Amino acid sequence: MKSDYEICTWKNSEVCDVCSIKGKLICHFRTKYLLSFLSYFLVYVITTFIGIILGGFGWYLLGWIGYWLFFFEVWEIRILCSHCPYYAEEGNTLHCIANYSSLKLWKYHPEPMNMSEKIQLFIGFTILFGYPLIFMVLDSQFIFLVVSIIEIMIFFSFLIIKRCAKCPNFSCPFNRVRKEVVDSFLNKNPEMKKAWEASGYKVLKEI
Ligand code: SF4
Ligand code: SF4
Repeated sequence: MKSDYEICTWKNSEVCDVCSIKGKLICHFRTKYLLSFLSYFLVYVITTFIGIILGGFGWYLLGWIGYWLFFFEVWEIRILCSHCPYYAEEGNTLHCIANYSSLKLWKYHPEPMNMSEKIQLFIGFTILFGYPLIFMVLDSQFIFLVVSIIEIMIFFSFLIIKRCAKCPNFSCPFNRVRKEVVDSFLNKNPEMKKAWEASGYKVLKEI
């Protein structure tokens, strides 16, 4: 087992061979998932870098990069990732399909995200994606602005359609995994189930 917690994601693959929800979740790391996530985000980053540098605001990109470090390494990883089964792996770095290699400064939180964390996540994403748009507006880089907004829409469409429907971080506000699959996962993971039930979640059926 590669986790101090009773989380099936990090157990030997034999448990998956007989799993009734096998294939319904992205519960193991695959390089192709990480690369597709990064490529959608990178397209947006490259567009905004070009737009901002052409507009003469290049130095302000340092502020954006600084925010990435704070958001991905400190803030988002606490309010979102620390609740994710991927985070329960032993070791000091995260090995997941998006924030791969981020440092795990916080302990694992098996309970679901609370309302404050969900609101913070929306605020964090708004800053993350909105920061470069401000400079494109200030310099009237409207072509780059429109392309960037379209790329944001494509990025979130990709996430919501292809990833959030199968992501094991069930309490994320974007998550779309069906309740029966969530309940089945919780029934396989008693430590997580106990924390969810202590937060008021009702596991309706044993599968
Ligand atoms: S839910 Fe758990 S047991 Fe089932 S396939 Fe995923 S990691 Fe394996
Ligand atoms: S919530 Fe997403 S980014 Fe965070 S650890 Fe889980 S899969 Fe990775």
